[in-house]
Amino acid sequence: MNLANWIARHGRERPDDPAIAIGTEVHATWSGFASTVASLARGFRDLGLDPGDRVALVMRNRPEYLEAKFAAWHAGLVAVPVNARLHPDEIAYILDDSGARIVVTDPEHGDDVVPLAGIIDGLDHVVVVGTEEWGALLDSPPMELVDRAPVDAAWLFYTSGTTGRPKGATLTHRNLLKTSLSYFADIDPVEPGDAILHAAPLSHGSGLYGLPHVARGAVSVIPASGGVHAEEIVELVQHWPGLSFFAAPTMVKRLADDPVVKGADLTNLKTIIYGGAPMYLADLEEALGVFGPRLAQIYGQGETPMTITALSKRHHAEHEHPDWKEHLASVGTVRTDLEVRVVDENDQPLPPGRSGEIVVRGDVVMAGYWNQPEATAETLRGGWLHTGDIGSFSEDGFLTLQDRSKDLIISGGMNIYPREVEEVLLRHPGVTAVSVVGRRDAEWGETVVAFVVASPDAPALDPAELDELCLDSIARYKRPKEYRFVDSLPTSGYGKVLKRELRDLLDGEDAD
Ligand code: AMP
Repeated sequence: MNLANWIARHGRERPDDPAIAIGTEVHATWSGFASTVASLARGFRDLGLDPGDRVALVMRNRPEYLEAKFAAWHAGLVAVPVNARLHPDEIAYILDDSGARIVVTDPEHGDDVVPLAGIIDGLDHVVVVGTEEWGALLDSPPMELVDRAPVDAAWLFYTSGTTGRPKGATLTHRNLLKTSLSYFADIDPVEPGDAILHAAPLSHGSGLYGLPHVARGAVSVIPASGGVHAEEIVELVQHWPGLSFFAAPTMVKRLADDPVVKGADLTNLKTIIYGGAPMYLADLEEALGVFGPRLAQIYGQGETPMTITALSKRHHAEHEHPDWKEHLASVGTVRTDLEVRVVDENDQPLPPGRSGEIVVRGDVVMAGYWNQPEATAETLRGGWLHTGDIGSFSEDGFLTLQDRSKDLIISGGMNIYPREVEEVLLRHPGVTAVSVVGRRDAEWGETVVAFVVASPDAPALDPAELDELCLDSIARYKRPKEYRFVDSLPTSGYGKVLKRELRDLLDGEDAD
């Protein structure tokens, strides 16, 4: 079982169909993609690599990303896609931790990454795409696909590290096959002639959602700008029928607010898959108004890629359902490919309505953390992946996420889930974004602080108004003791709000 087999197969079945495009221009047909992959694979191996060795990818989205990733698999190597927006020291940490032998990078990151060869143990080669060295690799004679066992590592997925040092979730060929099949089961069927737009980083969600599309012979489209721009996305939607893309909730919101998108013909748009962070109800309703029932939500994590639960397009469209809004505020129902439970602190299953840690079991769950036996044993204890997320099931099987366990605020012995407070504050028309965290407090343990970004049309928000809104819908003890008005919230490269930074800020003030 080797995922790179998909490329070879399409190379034979549909040699002249587009496989990779930059914007509206075809970069490679399937036969071209297949021969590039087979040659690059040989090139990597001739640099002295053996099956199981790691090839790191430090690039913004570009065709060579896909070529290098599938070539690594074709050659029996393990890909380590690194978030290219990380600080150079963070990138160096991942290269070292994964024991990468080669890094493939782009000219933008060359200055940071090239000097690391020779400094990081075992890192022998940094290849910059577009250089002569890259050209020489492409000119290598093609090699046969290397056989892989289902349990062999394919992708070391470094978790985004909103806490502590990132860890490499080891995803096997079987994990990635299961996650791809589960996309067809629960999100969408995919046909040749469809397209996946890589508007978000290929090192994370977009790279994962690309897999079921490659599996079925759809075209992978890289936006020429390398990012998310409303006009460009609208142009690409016109050009490529059956187009889907993955976007973080903040991106979905930004697009839905854009007048260019609001006025566009979206007939060709198949699905926007969103997830990775909470999508608040108020934002989701607005996005549904703009995109129609083309939204599907996924809740997953690197350790169980793309799949724990999903809120399907059908769920989004069920306006008449009496619990429609509750469903929209949830992360949907359990995916076809795994089991999900909510458990107490002793790992005992809890009934619907009770909150606890979400645990997951199935063939899609990672083999473990790379070189971290203790963290692996702790996270996979009892055969279940402990996600660190807190949630509860409804009677009808919809899972609602309260928070990451470390984000929970405990004030005066009462549990406060920041998400609940955030949902309420976002209903205020003058609030664009909000993040609620706990501040250490000698008397209460913690107190609730809301960091609020006001909309440009309502620069002077009145805390008393926000307080009233909270009093209208949540328990008194949950409302923020303090409102901080800020221009923006700190986010990770993948659009997740970094609550840790907000807590550190408050800790720093308290220490002064
Ligand atoms: P990562 O491994 O970087 O993809 O981060 C996974 C974490 O993001 C999960 O454990 C959740 O805390 C959060 N997350 C993922 N999907 C969702 C979602 N649909 N809604 C809310 N939070 C999410």
